Amino acid sequence: MKVVDGHLHSSPKGLGGYAIATKFKDVGGVFMVLVSLPPNHYGLPGGLEGLIKSFDLHVRECKAASEAGVLVVCLAGIHPSYVDSLVKDLGLHRIDEILHVIENALKHLITLRREGFIQGFGEFGRPHYKTLPESLVLNELIMSEVFEIARDTDSIVHLHLEQAGIATVKTVDAYVRSANLPKKRVVFHHASINVVRYAEELGYYSTILGREELIAKALSLNLKNVLIESDYIDDPGRPGVVMYPWELVKEVEEVARKKAIPTQDLLSRFLENVKYVYDVDL
Ligand SMILES: [Zn+2]
Repeated sequence: MKVVDGHLHSSPKGLGGYAIATKFKDVGGVFMVLVSLPPNHYGLPGGLEGLIKSFDLHVRECKAASEAGVLVVCLAGIHPSYVDSLVKDLGLHRIDEILHVIENALKHLITLRREGFIQGFGEFGRPHYKTLPESLVLNELIMSEVFEIARDTDSIVHLHLEQAGIATVKTVDAYVRSANLPKKRVVFHHASINVVRYAEELGYYSTILGREELIAKALSLNLKNVLIESDYIDDPGRPGVVMYPWELVKEVEEVARKKAIPTQDLLSRFLENVKYVYDVDL
């Protein structure tokens, strides 16, 4: 049985990459996309220094996870809610300064990518909650710049977005096309079924939370461009939020049992999608 986790996080303040990958491997885990957390999650300060330290710390987490024997795709980025918090904390009059810090952080990400420490970027995108329009537009600008960087470095991007169905997908598609980034490089992370459907119609892949109801729903709608994720955040203050990666198998087994199909069939769909999106051999 080969299980894949399309998006999760780890932190040395929690279980950490090595322990997570080891536990995941014990239930058949073979592949994971490990995504960086904002600096404050690691207890790091703000500003450029904090961002760079968060990327470097994440690279070490990815290395530790792969040492446990799981194939790890390592993504680092600046979460839209973190950008939002900078706008709120520093004030609207300092947006140019915030953008400057972020663009310098992006330069560090490009170096990490070119040196092979990371394979792509995430999470970027737009906050999923009501916020200032200025924060929204700043996040969109950053996302569009990241698409250009992804094109130039042949990298994958994980997007964190609101769930506005066709509007969510079509606005992203406009930015992707204007950057000339291959669609395969963009993943709609933590997508609602509606977003998955429109994303698939336009040729994109999405990750859904690996819960039984969502997997069953995607299956009943015959959606194909789907990966499952735990989106585990490894925060000791919030254990098990959103779910543990080693719970994915149980959820898939439950769907397979109710639909009377072999678990392996269902797992291999996700496996095939991972092989295609990430160009990996599993
Ligand atoms: Zn996430």
